[in-house]
Amino acid sequence: MDKFDVDLFVIGGGSGGVRAARIAASHGARVRIAEEYRLGGTCVIRGCVPKKLFVYASRFAHEFTAAAGFGWTVEGTSFDWPTLIANKDREIERLEGAYRGNLERSGVEIVPQRAVITGPNEVELADGSRVTARYILVATGGRPNLGLDIPGRELGITSNEMFHLPRLPASIVIQGAGYIALEFASLLAGLGSKVTVVHRGDKLLRGFDEEIRERLSKELEAAGIALEFGVTIDSIDATDQGRRVRLNDGRVLLADEVMLAIGRVPNTVGVGLEAAGVQLNPNGAIVVDENSRTNIPSIYAVGDVTDRVNLTPIAIREGHAFADTVFGGKPWVVDHSLVPTAVFTEPEIGVVGLTEEEARAQGRRLDIYKTDFRPMKATLSGSPSRVFMKIIVDQKDDKVIGVHLIGEASAEIIQIVGITMTVGATKADFDRTLALHPSAAEELVTLRTKHDSSDLPEQSAESTPAI
Ligand code: FAD
Repeated sequence: MDKFDVDLFVIGGGSGGVRAARIAASHGARVRIAEEYRLGGTCVIRGCVPKKLFVYASRFAHEFTAAAGFGWTVEGTSFDWPTLIANKDREIERLEGAYRGNLERSGVEIVPQRAVITGPNEVELADGSRVTARYILVATGGRPNLGLDIPGRELGITSNEMFHLPRLPASIVIQGAGYIALEFASLLAGLGSKVTVVHRGDKLLRGFDEEIRERLSKELEAAGIALEFGVTIDSIDATDQGRRVRLNDGRVLLADEVMLAIGRVPNTVGVGLEAAGVQLNPNGAIVVDENSRTNIPSIYAVGDVTDRVNLTPIAIREGHAFADTVFGGKPWVVDHSLVPTAVFTEPEIGVVGLTEEEARAQGRRLDIYKTDFRPMKATLSGSPSRVFMKIIVDQKDDKVIGVHLIGEASAEIIQIVGITMTVGATKADFDRTLALHPSAAEELVTLRTKHDSSDLPEQSAESTPAI
């Protein structure tokens, strides 16, 4: 008789936990997974998936406007928020069912309860029962950071509530300048809300390439989004009409809703980690080694709760590597260095690899290639939106070490660019790749001019092939 009830107990049924549970079970482990809310976790229930559905909804507005230049008359359009919410909810329910089905088919036992660690090999469930496990995997994810304790903070909403608002806010103040704040700013503006972004810093999207940050600011302002830099919210009050926001420079803003999007924190409070002696870093994330193992040999952690790279594909990969390593006899580690990333603003951003600033800080000598052009579609639609692309090449070996895009389809393009960089493509490889014309992406293989400064000549790609 085995002395443990199960081989693996997973806490958290999100991206990382579900993958780890399924793969461990496929290696023959007896697995149980506890989820206190809904299977699928943040990404499926109140993150990537519903967010992208909202993004699609908002982009119809731009298409309706663009259509006129192509001869279409689009009349009588109207938008119904409750329909979007209901259809989104149906799709999320379908996905949740698919997650449940996959787990059940893999032989994983699902425990729809909160679980708390009570020792290195034991968890306690909300119903008071205890389960012993050879290994425990903590995959509890993260939650919105509610920030400073300002008066009226409870009147502000987070991304969690955005997915269930009874009506589209006619106006909204969003505090924050990370990708979640800006994606909501963009999509709500597309749907017709009057949006004001309040940020204590002087630029959007910390950590992104400087030129991408500047260009996004211009694009958002051109789309009618007000950007207030160097200020924070001092207090929020309820009024008959909605919310009154007092800024720390004395100004007052009125809006239907206030969204607080100032980052996320790891879900490590009340999980019993102290009881087991699991080490946390100063911001509350679980400290793990490259195999996702904590300082307690029987306890591992994957995904946002470890605050490495907080994205779904990373959580999934960490969960998979953990299960293969611990139960499959096939040890491998996740490479966190080359992560294709998108920001689904309008226009959207796609990046992979180092920013110019990071590459220079590493002391590398660089060749920078960039282009800034009006996309072909804009010639008839009249849209002022432009496309910007930047390729960063290490002079030492001609390797492409960073690509940064802003413009239509950047997310789709950057996924493929990520493959080329994963196999170590050089600029010469990009150059000998045949262009696909007419496309925006062809610029990536036709760029020949190096730039030392940020000055760029006006270019028009797509419509004028380099001949
Ligand atoms: P989660 O998916 O958060 O899962 C953790 C689960 O654990 C939750 O279901 C929670 O209920 C459960 N749980 C917590 N504590 C307990 C407990 N004690 N007992 C039982 N269950 C518990 N990533 C992308 O890659 N692309 C995107 O476009 C993207 N967009 C996003 C948009 C928004 C608005 C947000 C908030 C996030 C977005 N993300 C995106 C990030 C992505 O959602 C996360 O990186 C990912 O979900 C992390 O997976 P995880 O397994 O670590 O945790």
